[in-house]
Amino acid sequence: MCAAISGKSTATYVNDMLDVLIVGAGFSGLYLLDQLRERNFNVRLVEAGTGVGGIWHWNCYPGARVDTVCNIYQFSREDLWRQWEWSERFPGYAEMRAYFEFVDENLDLSRDISFETRVRQARFDERSKAWVIETDSSDPAVGSLTARFVLICTGFGSIPYIPSFEGFDLFQGECHHTGLWPQSGLELKGKRVGVIGTGASGVQVAQEASRLARELTVFQRTPNLCLPMQQKQLDAAANERLRATYTESFARRAQCFAGSDFDFDPRSALEVSPQERNALFERLWQKGGFWFWLGTFQDILSDPSANRMAYDFWRDKVRARVSDPAVGEILAPTDPPHPFGTKRPSLEQWYYDMFNEDHVNLVDIKRSPIVRFTPTGVVTASNEHEIDVLILATGFDAVTGGLTEIDIRHPDGTSLADKWASGVLTYQGLASSGFPNLLFGYGPQSPSGFCNGPTSAEFQGDYIVECLSYMREHGLSRIEATHEAEKGWREECLELVKPTLFPQADSWYMGANIPGKQREILMYSGGVPMYMAALGECAANGYDGYTLS
Ligand SMILES: Cc1cc2nc3c(=O)[nH]c(=O)nc-3n(C[C@H](O)[C@H](O)[C@H](O)COP(=O)(O)OP(=O)(O)OC[C@H]3O[C@@H](n4cnc5c(N)ncnc54)[C@H](O)[C@@H]3O)c2cc1C
Repeated sequence: MCAAISGKSTATYVNDMLDVLIVGAGFSGLYLLDQLRERNFNVRLVEAGTGVGGIWHWNCYPGARVDTVCNIYQFSREDLWRQWEWSERFPGYAEMRAYFEFVDENLDLSRDISFETRVRQARFDERSKAWVIETDSSDPAVGSLTARFVLICTGFGSIPYIPSFEGFDLFQGECHHTGLWPQSGLELKGKRVGVIGTGASGVQVAQEASRLARELTVFQRTPNLCLPMQQKQLDAAANERLRATYTESFARRAQCFAGSDFDFDPRSALEVSPQERNALFERLWQKGGFWFWLGTFQDILSDPSANRMAYDFWRDKVRARVSDPAVGEILAPTDPPHPFGTKRPSLEQWYYDMFNEDHVNLVDIKRSPIVRFTPTGVVTASNEHEIDVLILATGFDAVTGGLTEIDIRHPDGTSLADKWASGVLTYQGLASSGFPNLLFGYGPQSPSGFCNGPTSAEFQGDYIVECLSYMREHGLSRIEATHEAEKGWREECLELVKPTLFPQADSWYMGANIPGKQREILMYSGGVPMYMAALGECAANGYDGYTLS
């Protein structure tokens, strides 16, 4: 065994150097904790929240729900899925939390996790070849830690974004961002509720609020091209039937673009007859979930004419559900606000129907912008809206925010945030030159936002665990991506997205939802099979593109 990586069976972390410190207790961090412990690494995980689950710990707003089918939005370990029963095809946050507690109990994870511990700073010390990590914990055992490797698994949405509104501080009612929802809950029943933002969280919380609130006002800047969830309740027999499909579903993830268990139809939307095209669109619509997005003709996301056909089908479906044509035009405009599918479509159940109800109002803030806040509401260019509870569904500093928020310093003093200010530079979405022994899970320039979350956690997790094991076997203790390799990877990410329609939308995929953030694709868009092939080849070539010593 290599002297540099100890291989103790449990973490004796107080005043002791860890082999590995993991940051974040979502799918990615928990998977790594379990797998590294299995390989006898001395590992500890620190988590800012009070429990396991990652985004499912924080996003506990009414209506928070998974939009990937439960079949694959879970770990693929048979000893776990054999025991677990899902109650719905698309589980809500409470069920996801229960699932994470079940995983924690079964794998005994919490014994090596420090909760309520937020990493603030990390500095690499070249002399000891180790990271010195400072946290906000008052517990001396985890206030300052040293670790040979740091694996940052802070996810896509750990830094909520709140736009700066004039007079925002004046508002006296309850006001919460969906990603920082009070853990004790919040009563919406009988209140006048305002929801700013119509991304995934905005759609979900507005739907729920429409059934509770006395009055609901939705402030929409950009229409969300939502797809029908086609939710289903699952009983014991349905779970049994699902279990019979899991092994095949999990295996399929490696072959599908989005790490899902289904993929695009290999045909072009332009090569089939209108009848055939509409028949496929209708079939996918009825299947629900992401089928209409990721199971459709292969050129929908790259060919403008094909894309327009999908948009028109979507628009007509939505308009048929909205009784006021003027409201229909705001929700589903005649012409697309951006190419269909280039912003992540949300799944809805009664979102469009709710606008037919008298107590639900839609405000188009592109036409009538929010001008200011008052103690009791929101003033737009054309109206004043009285509000008791204001919900900010304004998104996240997605993918990079969790990383750049931490003061991570290069041995020469440069920070990761400074390095990435004019463009992200990673190799394989896993590492950045100048920051040795620091690896990212679900990070930028990996499939992350284009990939099913648990698939990414397991596939990248296996690669990282293999890499650290390889280093231990070969007596190596330092790994750093080369600048050449990261430049090449960045170029590849930029080239891969060019033939697609994604750059045409101001999405979080493009970093375009945050003022001042570099506008560039944040994801690797070659798909999971191509990504995993690149990783496999790299490992087979002795981790080509990294310097190991
Ligand atoms: C509301 C919502 C719904 C989603 N639905 C889906 C879906 O249906 N399908 C899908 O594939 N993906 C979905 N996602 C994406 C989701 O991020 C991934 O599925 C998955 O949760 C990623 O897991 P993770 O472990 O990488 O990160 P996360 O689950 O985000 O966990 C990151 C953890 O890091 C912690 N952390 C952050 N910074 C620090 C710090 N400095 N110190 C200590 N701890 C820190 C956070 O507290 C958090 O617990 C959704 C995201 C959101 C926000």
